[in-house]
Amino acid sequence: MLTYDDALARILAQITPLAPTDTPLTDALGRVLAEEVTTPFPLPPFTNSSMDGYAVRAADFTTLPTTLPVAGDIAAGATFVPTLLPGQALRIMTGAPVPPGADAVVPVEDTEARGGGTAFLEAVTEGQCIRPAGEEAAAGSVVLRAGTTLRPAHIGMAATVGRSTLRTYPRPRVAVLSTGDELVEPGQALGFGQIYNSNAYALAALVTDAGGVVTHQLHARDTPEALRAAFDAAEDADVLITSGGVSVGDYDYVKSVFAERGTVDFWKAAIRPGKPVAFGQWGRTHFFGLPGNPSSTIVTFELFVRPALRRLAGQTQLTRPLLTATLTEPVSHTPGRQSYQRAVVTRAADGQGEVRALIKQGSGMLLPMTEANALLVLPADTNALSEGASVTVLLLD
Ligand code: AMP
Ligand code: MG
Repeated sequence: MLTYDDALARILAQITPLAPTDTPLTDALGRVLAEEVTTPFPLPPFTNSSMDGYAVRAADFTTLPTTLPVAGDIAAGATFVPTLLPGQALRIMTGAPVPPGADAVVPVEDTEARGGGTAFLEAVTEGQCIRPAGEEAAAGSVVLRAGTTLRPAHIGMAATVGRSTLRTYPRPRVAVLSTGDELVEPGQALGFGQIYNSNAYALAALVTDAGGVVTHQLHARDTPEALRAAFDAAEDADVLITSGGVSVGDYDYVKSVFAERGTVDFWKAAIRPGKPVAFGQWGRTHFFGLPGNPSSTIVTFELFVRPALRRLAGQTQLTRPLLTATLTEPVSHTPGRQSYQRAVVTRAADGQGEVRALIKQGSGMLLPMTEANALLVLPADTNALSEGASVTVLLLD
């Protein structure tokens, strides 16, 4: 059976980033930038005031207080700016162009109205409260690097240099198909033998979190006909994720119906939970057949689907961080498959990571997954480990 590393390598060998597109800034948050952005003009574009106050010449303040006549006003957005003459002041607002002749701005709180003019109470230094053109960046300099995951400040930066769109990698379009006759949608009444369809919602959240967008939310009963119809509805997705119906039960038709359309690359991996996990291609759609047990669904998504979605979305860091931590409680393990036990990592007083596996590890249980912030990785040949052992953990948040 394929090891996790080999299985992931086979997946990533099939996946390249989606073709970048021009994206309005309002839709760019969280996407990966596919171009280098430079500023066509200096930042700031013109020398301006950083305070509301008075534009003055520092040389006019040999004694304090000094009272000067105010010759006019300059508002932010002013297109005509008068020249400041010696022995005068001009009222100026934050962001307004500094007039020719001025070399300092005095904040309004350091002045007082006196007679027909304004009295300046504090010492004035040349250049104070002035933001010179180009102090942030020269014309032509790089303001956003290709490969950046766009956060709010990056989007603001793009607008600052006049861009209304950015070239970004698209979010992968994902179809989520849950299978099972026993499934009922939340909000409906539950009959005997039925359970609510939780995987559909957990998977949709995982997809969004990984940078994808759910374009199809499908459900199929456990018949080949129902599965065929659902697969056909998902044909235009970049990625199709199914849950359930992928092991060796009598009604597990997912693999055989998928194989009528595309090629299955593998359908088992030597991991626990999640041994029945399938990967394949159908036209330009990548197919992941995940097991139905709710914890297995989430673990296999984390291990296989998340890295794939991130690569499609243009990310280069594909996997979650691994950390070495110390076990605070013993764990039991039967050698055979590499395990991913649901675990809680904390930081010890000395700053080192400590980890304990949750007691309940049933792959059909979802509650332990809600408590876990990490997966404890136990290599295939691991026997039981005692407290104090050094282990590897995969951080989930
Ligand atoms: P299967 O792989 O179809 O045999 O499903 C394995 C287990 O996961 C069974 O107990 C199913 O009832 C359960 N299961 C399958 N799909 C879902 C789902 N969408 N939501 C919650 N549990 C599910
Ligand atoms: Mg099933």
